[in-house]
Amino acid sequence: MASQEIEALASALARLPGLGPRSARRAVLWLIKRRETSLVQLAEALEGVRARLVECTTCGNVDTANPCSVCTDPRRDARALCVVEEVADLWALDRSRLFTGRYHVLGGRLSALEGVGPEDLSIGQLLQRLEAGGIDEVVLAMNATLEGQTTAHYIAERIEHLPLRVTQLAHGLPVGGELDYLDEGTLAQALRARRPVG
Ligand SMILES: [Zn+2]
Repeated sequence: MASQEIEALASALARLPGLGPRSARRAVLWLIKRRETSLVQLAEALEGVRARLVECTTCGNVDTANPCSVCTDPRRDARALCVVEEVADLWALDRSRLFTGRYHVLGGRLSALEGVGPEDLSIGQLLQRLEAGGIDEVVLAMNATLEGQTTAHYIAERIEHLPLRVTQLAHGLPVGGELDYLDEGTLAQALRARRPVG
């Protein structure tokens, strides 16, 4: 029988995406063997994230400041806004360095199956940002999944009345492809070849 502390750590790790109980227990044993080095680093990194990270109330990014460093960066083009499903997508696109505007994180995608409706995503906040003016182009950078594309179409309809250039990532993205799994070249290509929604 493992101690209560070890069981607690293993069951916390087992809830992480991609980890089950077996790999969680293996990770715990690995960490215990390295408790002076890797375990200390992990504990400090977790505490740093817990203590300092906040969600940006403007765009939904996760950062140490609110508004986040993307929203406040004066070198970015405030007239272009890229809409993504998740924070991981924002980071993936930003790594490609091809988009120099700002972002809006929806917090998911519409899904009838999972019962996710428009009110569960930050679509209302997106409309507010766009209606406030100052933005010329909206890039809908949803995943190339059925749900991602449904979400993109829904948003395109909701913002149809606004004087905006609405574009979408070019197809050629692998079908079912999730942005944060794509290599940077493919992502950059999809962004460069973005086309009007219609
Ligand atoms: Zn932000």
